[in-house]
Amino acid sequence: MTDCISRIAQVLNKHASLLSNQDDLVPYNRGTEGFSNNSGEGIVAIVKPYNTEDVSCLLNLANELSSIPDLRFTVNPISTGLNWGYGTSQPPRCNSRVVILDLSSLTNIEFTADLGLITVEPGVTQKQLSDFLIGQGDSFMVPVTGAGPSCSILSNAIERGYGITPNTDHFGAVTAIHGYWANGTKYTSAINELDQSEEKIVDKTYKWGVGPYLDGLFTQSNFGVATSMTIRLAKKPEKFVSFIIRVPSDSDMEQATLLIRKVLSDYEGIVGSINLMDKRRLLSMFADNPSPSEHKVMSDELIKTLSDSLQTSDWTIMGSIYGTEGVAKIVKKEIKQIFSQLNCSQIYSDSAIFPIANKVIKWTPNFLFKHIPVLSLVKKQLASFERGKEIMLGRPNKMALKLAYWRHKDAKKIKPEDLSPAKDGCGLLWYAPLVTMNPTVMRKYVEFIRATCPKYNIEPLVTFTNLKHDCVDSTIPIIFDLSNPQAVEDAHNCLKDLVLNGLKLGFVPYRLNIDQQQWLLDANSPFWQTTNKIKLALDPNQILNIGRYNPQ
Ligand SMILES: Cc1cc2nc3c(=O)[nH]c(=O)nc-3n(C[C@H](O)[C@H](O)[C@H](O)COP(=O)(O)OP(=O)(O)OC[C@H]3O[C@@H](n4cnc5c(N)ncnc54)[C@H](O)[C@@H]3O)c2cc1C
Repeated sequence: MTDCISRIAQVLNKHASLLSNQDDLVPYNRGTEGFSNNSGEGIVAIVKPYNTEDVSCLLNLANELSSIPDLRFTVNPISTGLNWGYGTSQPPRCNSRVVILDLSSLTNIEFTADLGLITVEPGVTQKQLSDFLIGQGDSFMVPVTGAGPSCSILSNAIERGYGITPNTDHFGAVTAIHGYWANGTKYTSAINELDQSEEKIVDKTYKWGVGPYLDGLFTQSNFGVATSMTIRLAKKPEKFVSFIIRVPSDSDMEQATLLIRKVLSDYEGIVGSINLMDKRRLLSMFADNPSPSEHKVMSDELIKTLSDSLQTSDWTIMGSIYGTEGVAKIVKKEIKQIFSQLNCSQIYSDSAIFPIANKVIKWTPNFLFKHIPVLSLVKKQLASFERGKEIMLGRPNKMALKLAYWRHKDAKKIKPEDLSPAKDGCGLLWYAPLVTMNPTVMRKYVEFIRATCPKYNIEPLVTFTNLKHDCVDSTIPIIFDLSNPQAVEDAHNCLKDLVLNGLKLGFVPYRLNIDQQQWLLDANSPFWQTTNKIKLALDPNQILNIGRYNPQ
């Protein structure tokens, strides 16, 4: 093994880092999922390249040594390794010597300002891109996610993740990819190869290229390593209005769904994505769990107490309007009209109430917050509203990360700016199925979640996010105490139950965790057989990201 590591050291740039001490490996073996991955040698080293040349050298070496059992190693690329709930930075399969290719050191950014095209290397985080764009005049939005400032832009698109700015579908906004296939061959699109100009800009402006579309082969796959990606950024609007609609009665969910569908199809491009969240989900984001170490779901009485104190309704709709002053004004008026058909209260961020409330809070002496709880509540809600607005405007923050700490004993002791779920030992898995945007199906789904999760003492927390008017993905965070073996077992069984019985009802996950990738996919189905043929062509020595979306 030492030999394989010394061979790696020989091919890397002298500024690259190669770590193989046990202490250095610890963070890479850590995840929120509670997976035990001890079937083989596992992670033996970490390579942090100095430049993209190092990526090519490492892949070439892995291919060269692949037939020598004593030296053979496989390569697992990560960008920031914060794939919390889906595997974090852990390799999908560990039955070989794994070298983690940690691309977080590659942080170059190129900007074609007049066209709003940004080209980022894998290590560029949401915060870095945000700071960069602010420095360039603050005219464009970062495609942020709830995972927050420290996560890579590129790898979220590689996972086909989504957010709630107008560029909801993150891979959808990607126009060009550069990288290496597993066999070491360099990749750029055919347009880039044909273009003889010095700037080679047209490739960045046109997603589909010429000939077969190969950029997509880098996503949810193990065929290659992406070393840069161009993204068409959404422009910051002249006017932005976010809205929160509180639906007091659970039974109004169906009608709310129909109205959301209408808003999204009537105002496509003006209204970003819309989130529909149930009461428990909202409480888990904003309330403190009174008994985080208890492995059981909240009682109805507790929910009532918490939701009364936080004034949480059965369902909450959250969305935003992006446009010119005139367009936003008209659309806001029409949306108000549409939702007035529902028994609900509507709050818009440009309402006169906000500056007044903010002034009142600002001038209230601190001691009064202790004595008048409602003031403290208003203060918290205004702060949350501001932080939610930031995300919708493409400014990353850690607001959503609190959710991962719902069953964490020391949640209150960790400062909001320090939240880092895997480092802090949070237990979290995601169930993220696509659900047909149809009220009857969505009700069936809600009933399914509410019946299944509590059987395993998992809180049923429901969010629906519209990726389009006709496409909704639901995220169910399975939150558990990672230090309690029974809770870990229950969480895994809960997710398995949801996935397997969900498939029978037509609920299919849009993204899988590293464990599901090993047992859910049928290697003999026509789809995966074809995928395996592509894998063999691009990775004949089987050296890259073994087991990632690749059943054998
Ligand atoms: C509270 C909370 C909220 C979240 N909200 C969201 C959300 O709103 N939207 C969302 O999508 N996710 C969300 N997540 C899930 C997850 O944390 C994010 O998707 C995160 O961005 C993924 O981690 P990463 O970017 O560090 O990817 P990494 O861990 O670096 O990589 C993810 C996968 O991509 C592969 N990969 C990475 N880089 C490359 C490369 N250069 N070439 C080839 N393959 C590569 C890796 O092998 C790995 O399997 C959330 C998580 C939490 C805890």
